[in-house]
Amino acid sequence: MNLYNIKHPEQQVNFAQAVRQGLGKDQGLFFPATIPQLSNIDELLALPLVERSQKILAALIGDEIPADKLNAMVKNAFTFPAPVVKVADNIYALELFHGPTLAFKDFGGRFMAQALATVRGDGKITILTATSGDTGAAVAHAFYGLDNIDVVILYPKGKISPLQEKLFCTLGGNIRTVAINADFDACQTLVKQAFDDEELRQAIGLNSANSINISRLLAQVCYYFEAAAQLNTEQRQNLVVSVPSGNFGNLTAGLIAKTLGLPIKRFIASTNANDTVPRYLQTGEWQPNATVATLSNAMDVSRPNNWPRVEELFKRNGWQLSELGSGALNDAETETALKAQYAQGYLCEPHGAIAYQVLKDQLQTGETGLFLCTAHPAKFKESVERILDIELPLPEALDKHNKLPLLSDEMDNDFATLRAYLLK
Ligand SMILES: *Cc1c(COP(=O)(O)O)cnc(C)c1O
Repeated sequence: MNLYNIKHPEQQVNFAQAVRQGLGKDQGLFFPATIPQLSNIDELLALPLVERSQKILAALIGDEIPADKLNAMVKNAFTFPAPVVKVADNIYALELFHGPTLAFKDFGGRFMAQALATVRGDGKITILTATSGDTGAAVAHAFYGLDNIDVVILYPKGKISPLQEKLFCTLGGNIRTVAINADFDACQTLVKQAFDDEELRQAIGLNSANSINISRLLAQVCYYFEAAAQLNTEQRQNLVVSVPSGNFGNLTAGLIAKTLGLPIKRFIASTNANDTVPRYLQTGEWQPNATVATLSNAMDVSRPNNWPRVEELFKRNGWQLSELGSGALNDAETETALKAQYAQGYLCEPHGAIAYQVLKDQLQTGETGLFLCTAHPAKFKESVERILDIELPLPEALDKHNKLPLLSDEMDNDFATLRAYLLK
């Protein structure tokens, strides 16, 4: 597999290098040089998840990874289902939260861990990542206990749910978690600064594991096929997919699936009040505001780092950005949407509720709508219980961690401090 740096196309790497490096020169994102057109979509859709995903990833990655290795990576990563559930007459939910940390980031995180363990060279590896909630949990759990891989996770102190925090800050072992006294964008900037520091990078074998890493995106492509596989031919004909978006990795994966030939009529990028992209699509002006905290905090991102990949795909495919649907909901609208879903008989959480409502508002006659449910409702227990006036039992996976003490360190938003911490 050949990939290039979107910022410096002359920088070319293979899959192993892209996985190990995460980011290219000048923090440029790696992107596949070619994406094949699959001719056997219907055959693929007839296969079970793991087998189909092995074929899709083999088509994307090529023979750089031997088939038996790749097959094992996929099998170890995709250990849980992604069911499609009917919510209204022509609207379906794709539930991506049945993995060990109850969020869709388990797909990308687990495949990334497998990929890195497969392509790693000698020497130390340190995973450094910033999280606004779920990435951290998925990464921590995916790498927990792997030999010679240290993980350091930065998150905005007090800006993620207490339960989310418990899920990944209680592991210990090779997982270190750091609460930064700042917002998520600041955490992301600290990570970028670390990657720009060549000496540091070499010393500790820095690697990023957030949605920037290409292996995560490739893994996520697979569940769009899984969704289509659960719909019938007629429903697939005019399929519209609404993606609750923060850093836009999820949407990028969906666009790659479409490029491979999966029949998706159009996508809708759904955001909360951090609506840089919906505003950009309407006005043509890229004007990020300061990030605001919302109910759907995993999407509290005003400078989505995967956006250049989205634009690259549109450009390369000759698609118009005007074909990309979008919509944004504020917190009050999110609450209304969550209640409406519940009245329909479907229990959701704020991220999925936004994707549902924006889809519902924009779906046209004759279209089938699919929205992505990115987290289990219990991961947002406090909000969901308050808004719906119900009591949610904690699933076992959360309950176990909820009883353990937090092991996080605390740090100010200061790169020099972080650098010393990483070298320690
Ligand atoms: C990360 C996350 C998102 C946003 O996904 P991106 O790929 O960053 O756009 C949406 N919902 C939940 C629950 C998440 O954890």
